Amino acid sequence: MTLVPAFHSINEGQKPPARRVYHNNDACPPGRDISLKERLTGTGSFRLCEDCNKLNAQGR
Ligand SMILES: [Zn+2]
Repeated sequence: MTLVPAFHSINEGQKPPARRVYHNNDACPPGRDISLKERLTGTGSFRLCEDCNKLNAQGR
């Protein structure tokens, strides 16, 4: 796995607040679904995505 600078989708703000997340692992499936042109750098003040969290905890 590779930790990458935090990023989130330009569409993240349209989700219900409880579901807004950012990603920081390049192996994260939902993170990979965000095309490069839809990515914004930074956390957006959202919480870390659960998949990223798991991957990070597993060292993947
Ligand atoms: Zn993620």
